[in-house]
This record gives sequence, structure tokens and C-alpha cells, in this order.
Amino acid sequence: MDWKRLRRSSNVQDRRGSGMGGGLAIGGGAGIILLIVSLLFGGDPGQILNQLGGNSGQQTSKAQNDEVLDFTRAILGSTEDYWGPVFQKSGRTYNPPGLDLFTAGTTTGCGNATSATGPFYCPNDQTIYIDPSFFNDLATRFGAKGDFAAAYVIAHEVGHHVQNELGIMDQVQRSGDRQGANSAAVRLELQADCMAGVWAHALANQSNPIATPEDINEGRVAAQSVGDDTLQERSRGYSDPESFTHGTSAQRDQWFTTGVKTGDVNRCNTFK
Ligand SMILES: [Zn+2]
Repeated sequence: MDWKRLRRSSNVQDRRGSGMGGGLAIGGGAGIILLIVSLLFGGDPGQILNQLGGNSGQQTSKAQNDEVLDFTRAILGSTEDYWGPVFQKSGRTYNPPGLDLFTAGTTTGCGNATSATGPFYCPNDQTIYIDPSFFNDLATRFGAKGDFAAAYVIAHEVGHHVQNELGIMDQVQRSGDRQGANSAAVRLELQADCMAGVWAHALANQSNPIATPEDINEGRVAAQSVGDDTLQERSRGYSDPESFTHGTSAQRDQWFTTGVKTGDVNRCNTFK
């Protein structure tokens, strides 16, 4: 992925190392997030901790940190440059989200969060929260390597912001239909995957493309790696569709691919 050519967003806040450190009780406010906008992982917080806990204190060099910051600014910038004109074409204004990079723990408009929550979007303050150690987890624990896998995560969270801007997130939250294979929550997640796909389409189909077919494949592998069935089977040995919150690996790949192939957000109707 030739991300260095992308415009950098000015909406990324680097709050790494200035967060709540180890003093934050795990659970607490994060429980709210897990129910509403834990956008990459669902289910039992304990299992999430088992999968992700203990890796956030990972040592990374200053140079690596600066690279992550630059990368995040570039990817967020590209989503702004994509969604701005799409909104404009339908007579709307796109108000871009904030994106806070943090380490260990942080306060958010949705309560306290730790790295264990995984990347998420908080609709209350219209901000995406990411501990960049997650990108390492993605490569090492989930088998989704490459810069485009990380870019997919950011684009998925931006998809939730687009849903918030369009009032879709509100409707789903009001429905209270928060888990199960056919739930509104799963449809919301799959739509965010599709929205990441339409953004990827733009990067892959411009003259002098930013994203190659290999990059798109990294995105597909990433989408597959965070399917409910895959995560549940790994953590407890079986999967239970009644408790799904994000969709299966096959569904996540399918909707991401629908976005990539069509490049049309109107084809992202996962609710019909
Ligand atoms: Zn999500």
C-alpha cells in the first residue's frame, strides 16, 4: 500500500503515554462500550481480555511510533477525501471524526476504555479510539498481516462514523437488537465492513492506485480474521450464532468485497 502519497489528516490526536496508565479498572465504563460500540469484537469481555490482554505494554521504538502516527493520519485523511465528496453529491456535509491514539487506557465520551476493548468508535464524541498495539495483535495473533489490514480497521471504524452521520447508528441503538446472527448489531457491523470496502475501491481504482490487489487481499484476510465464528472458536472451541455481534468471517469478507467490487455505498444495504 503506497500510503505515503496520501494527504495527512489533522484530526488525529496522539495521546499515547498520557492516558490513564495501569490504574484503570478493567470492565467499568468499558462495559457500556462493549454493548454499544465495541466495534471490532463482541461477546464476553473476559474472552476479549484473554485474547488481547497483556500485549499493550509492548515496547516499540520512537521511530516506529512516529510511523504509526503518520500512517494513521494518512489513512484517516484518505477517508476524509473519500467520504467528503460522497456526502456532497447527495447534498450533505461530511463532518469528519476525530481519532485518538492511546496506550493502555483512556477516557472517552462513552466511558473509560482500555486496550482490551479493541479499536472502537464512540458516537457521543464522534471519535475513533485505537491503541496501536492492536495492529501488532492483528498481525501476530489474528494472522492478518500488512499495512492494508491496519488500514481496513481504521476504515471500518470510519464506516461507523458515516453510519452515525446518516442516523443509522441511532436507529440500531434504539432497536436494542444487539446480538444474534440476524441482529441489527450484526447488520451494522457488516455495513461498516462494506463501507470500508467502497473506500478501498477508490484507492484501488484511481489512476496510479494507492492499493494493489495484494493490498485488497490483506483487507479481506483482516475482515475474515475478526469474524464472530472464528474468534469464538478460538477462544472457547465452538461458536454460538445467538451471541454473534459482528457476523461470521465469511460474511465480513463478503460485505467488504461487495464494497470493493461496487465502489457504491448504496450497495451496502445489509438491513434489507
Ligand atoms: Zn465495527
